[in-house]
Amino acid sequence: MSSGGERLGVFGGTFDPPHTGHLVAAVNVRYELGLDRVLLVVANDPWQKSADHPVTPAADRLAMVEALVRDVEGLEASALEIERGGPSYAVDTLAQLAAADPGGRRFLIVGSDAAAGLLTWDRCHELPVLATLVLVDRPGVASASPPAGWEFERVEIPRLDISSTDLRRRAAHGRPLDGLVPPGVVSCIRERRIYREQP
Ligand code: ATP
Ligand code: MG
Repeated sequence: MSSGGERLGVFGGTFDPPHTGHLVAAVNVRYELGLDRVLLVVANDPWQKSADHPVTPAADRLAMVEALVRDVEGLEASALEIERGGPSYAVDTLAQLAAADPGGRRFLIVGSDAAAGLLTWDRCHELPVLATLVLVDRPGVASASPPAGWEFERVEIPRLDISSTDLRRRAAHGRPLDGLVPPGVVSCIRERRIYREQP
């Protein structure tokens, strides 16, 4: 719980599944920018993806993110978009967080691939009013710059070539995920049989 006036990181994603790349990004941005907390906000309906391929139920993705951040100081799983329901728009999430802590500052963390698509986000021009954009690079993706005039910070993080797409593929083939996702997430996937057709 916070007493207000917080420096709050907001790291949204589908997290299908969450992985060590997400963890390293969140931890390092928190450290470099001196953030009080970073929320990993689980998209309820990641509308840009769900139109393209089936997405794991939100409750399973939230459970995996909770396992990812367990025992990691300053990182929290957020069910805000799940509780709101419907398609998930970052602008609504930031507005909700701003209303909850009017004296606080928000830092919207995006990887370079996501940053390249910012202008496709709903009501994107409101984003820089609600938060400072924080860009982190990803291997294999060119560094993106935000649209002209947007205030932003770039944070250098260890570059880990890990993606949820590759992890889903690995899981479907029965390949190990160890090291690419923390042990707690491996257990969560196993217990909930998330990426298995068969029990
Ligand atoms: P998918 O392959 O399904 O798109 P993903 O690995 O890209 O999954 P997302 O949930 O789409 O994960 O990403 C959420 C956020 O995390 C995005 O801003 C994305 O750019 C960032 N991100 C994902 N993987 C990494 C990584 N390895 N390093 C830095 N940022 C990352
Ligand atoms: Mg992605």
